[in-house]
Amino acid sequence: MSKTPITVAYGDGIGPEIMQATLRVLEAAGAHIAPEVIEIGEKVYLAGNSSGIGSSAWESLRRTRVFLKAPITTPQGSGYKSLNVSTRKALGLYANLRPCMAYAPFVPTRHPAMDVVIVRENEEDLYAGIEHRQTDEVYQCLKLITRPGCERIVRYAFEYARRQGRKRVTCFVKDNIMKLTDGLFHRVFEEIGAEYPDIARDSMIVDIGAARLADTPERFDVIVMPNLYGDILSDVAAQIAGSVGMAGSANIGDQCAMFEAIHGSAPDIAGQDLANPSGLLNGAIQMLLHIGQAEVAERVHNAWLRTLEEGLHTADIYREGQSHQRLGTQAFADALIARL
Ligand code: NAD
Repeated sequence: MSKTPITVAYGDGIGPEIMQATLRVLEAAGAHIAPEVIEIGEKVYLAGNSSGIGSSAWESLRRTRVFLKAPITTPQGSGYKSLNVSTRKALGLYANLRPCMAYAPFVPTRHPAMDVVIVRENEEDLYAGIEHRQTDEVYQCLKLITRPGCERIVRYAFEYARRQGRKRVTCFVKDNIMKLTDGLFHRVFEEIGAEYPDIARDSMIVDIGAARLADTPERFDVIVMPNLYGDILSDVAAQIAGSVGMAGSANIGDQCAMFEAIHGSAPDIAGQDLANPSGLLNGAIQMLLHIGQAEVAERVHNAWLRTLEEGLHTADIYREGQSHQRLGTQAFADALIARL
């Protein structure tokens, strides 16, 4: 089997440590990948590139179309553009997929049966970048919702549910107030949902939906929503699952895809071999599925679960009396590799 070229960025802060651990695991598991390393983030910003990514990096991304990215640090101060937003737009990554699953009992949670996947529209809504000053006292940000954008993300959610054997797709919108924009999203959800009679569907106003998600997340399966609600509620859902440091995320487009951890570069623990590589590893597992290496993905996932089950934990999830041993980033990767 020929190796699939992927673009890899080691990122900032804990990025290099967790990327090294992740790539060692993938290699030991027999992933057929050929990593191509690019430099993005803090160093590139501070060298005077306001987007944090240079032309040779774009060239690699356009060629490989698969991006495994460690978290980066955006320098403080105005003038630096968000690398995440530019990457999503430039590569057309319209769907952000965030599985939020409980890993009880090794990660404490009040909802051990929680297994929710949030499908967030990734390019439109209030993140479309249409923001301006009207007067010194009035600023505007416009909410952009298009029919093609709604159709793409809603169809993606139903196709994903069908592929993964999931039973229900729920839509969160605020169309009692934003009747045109969120109204369109909801209407498209009903139209396209009708083409999937094998999958149940319902919709909720986002505020009560969020309250139910916080209270009884077990009742949800796949939830699809516009960009802003999805950005906020996917972090809330990951935290309720007890695993904000463990969740991975996929950003999918028709041509390219990007995989990462949902957390940031954690400068407070960088360089100390303390970071949990699980979030990036879960992103990498989604990448393996995306490039058709499901067997390797399953091997890595099972070995990861066994490592956790045996109480071999990094400091962030280590519990005295419950965990068996506290491991550093690289020792955690070694323990996982020994269980492949
Ligand atoms: P953060 O997620 O980096 O850290 C929050 C807390 O969680 C810290 O205490 C950190 O030590 C801990 N933590 C995070 N990941 C961990 C891991 N894998 N193992 C153990 N502990 C972990 O959030 P922040 O401190 O608000 O942001 C730091 C930087 O990250 C900022 O520059 C921000 O812009 C950037 N950021 C980048 C991305 C990305 O590249 N996708 C996402 C979010 C934030």
